[in-house]
Amino acid sequence: MTLANYLDTTQFAITLYDDEIGQATRASAGIISPWVSKRRNKKWYQLAKDGAAFFPKLVSDFQLDESIYTRCGTLILRQETQLEALYDFAQTRKEEAPEMGNITLLSKEETSLELPLLKETPALKISGGGRLDGKAYLARLQQLAIDKGLSIVKERATLTKKGSDWVVTTATHSDTFDLAIITAGPSLKPILGPLGYHVDIRPQKGQLLEFQTPFLESEQWPVVMLDGEADLIPFQQGKILIGATHENEALWDLRPTKEAFEQLWHHSQSFLKKTEEFLTSPYQYRIGTRAYTSDFAPFFGSPSEDDTLFVASGLGSSGLTVGPFIGYLLAQRLNTNAWSVEAYQKPISNYLKKVE
Ligand SMILES: Cc1cc2nc3c(=O)[nH]c(=O)nc-3n(C[C@H](O)[C@H](O)[C@H](O)COP(=O)(O)OP(=O)(O)OC[C@H]3O[C@@H](n4cnc5c(N)ncnc54)[C@H](O)[C@@H]3O)c2cc1C
Repeated sequence: MTLANYLDTTQFAITLYDDEIGQATRASAGIISPWVSKRRNKKWYQLAKDGAAFFPKLVSDFQLDESIYTRCGTLILRQETQLEALYDFAQTRKEEAPEMGNITLLSKEETSLELPLLKETPALKISGGGRLDGKAYLARLQQLAIDKGLSIVKERATLTKKGSDWVVTTATHSDTFDLAIITAGPSLKPILGPLGYHVDIRPQKGQLLEFQTPFLESEQWPVVMLDGEADLIPFQQGKILIGATHENEALWDLRPTKEAFEQLWHHSQSFLKKTEEFLTSPYQYRIGTRAYTSDFAPFFGSPSEDDTLFVASGLGSSGLTVGPFIGYLLAQRLNTNAWSVEAYQKPISNYLKKVE
C-alpha cells in the first residue's frame, strides 16, 4: 500500500490485489523502536534504523494524524542491574541515530508517572520511540490510493506469465501487466513456486490482545517493551494492546487460542497493576501471519533479469518499522531508477532463486 501510494501515476496504471487474509499489518501492535535490539545483523539494523528515521517524511507525505502514528516514546523494562549497560549501549547507538531523542534512566517512581498502570519498576526511556496503528495506517493509505485513481481488488490472486506479460487472475478478474510487484508476506512462496522460484520464507502466527479500558488518558502514554515475551501498547481513548505471540508451529492458522490469552495475560501480571480493570473490559484478539526468512532478515528488489518482477517479503516482527521505507525505496527504483540498497540487505539470490 505504501509502495502503491509512492508510485508515479503519470508513468504507471496501478491495480492492487489483496484478499487481506492473515494480513500482518492490520493485526500488528505497532512499536517503532529498533535501536536497542540485540540482533547482530548489521544490515538489518541499518534498515530498521533508517526505517524508523523515515517516519517524519511518511507522516508528512501522507498526512498521518496522531491516531495513526505518534512519537510517544518507548519505555524498556529490564532488571535494574541491566539498565545501566543498556543506557550506555543506547547512547552509542544515538551517535548514528539522533532521532532516538532523549535517553533517560527512570527511577521506579518516575516510571509510574510515565505510565500509571505499571507496577513500580525502573526503566530506560527513549523519547523518539513511536507507535503506528497498522489498521488505521492501511485505512488512510487505501483512501489516498482511491483518491489517486488506483484500482483495488480485494480477492485472492494467482500470477502467471504469458510471453513477456504478467497475468493476474482472481475469481472475477484476469488482467495483464508489464510489471508485477509481489508483497504478499509469506504467500510469496506459493505465488512464485509455480513460476519456478525457490523462496526462503516461512509463516509464523502472531496473536495479541486488544482491551478497551477506561483509561482515556492512554494516548499520552509511551509504549512499553517488557522484560520478556510481551509488550504493552497504549493507543487513544483507552485502547490498549498486549502482545504478541510468536508461534512457529501454528503456521497459517488464524484462530484465537486460549493458550495465547493465558501466555500474554499471565506475563502481563508481573508488570501491571490494576489488571482487574482490564479483565472487566471486553477484549478482542488481533491475529496475523508474519513472514520469516532463515536469517530473519527482510529482502526486496528484483529477482528477474528483465526487471519486470519485484518482490518484498520476510519483514518478520519489525515489518511496521521497515515496511514503509522498503515501499518507498522500491517506488524510487521504479519511478527514477534510483537504487542503492547494499547496506540494507544481502543479495536477493540468498532468498529467492529460479530453480528451473
Ligand atoms: C501480532 C503482530 C504484531 C506485530 N507487531 C509489530 C511491531 O510492534 N512493530 C513492527 O515493526 N512490526 C510488527 N509486526 C510485524 C509487521 O506487522 C509485519 O512484518 C508487516 O506488517 C508485514 O507487512 P507486509 O505488507 O509484508 O505483509 P502483510 O501485511 O501480511 O500483507 C500481505 C498481504 O498480502 C495478501 N496476500 C497474500 N497472498 C495473496 C494472494 N495470493 N492474493 C491476494 N492477496 C494476497 C495477504 O492477504 C495480506 O493482506 C507485527 C506482526 C504481527 C502479526
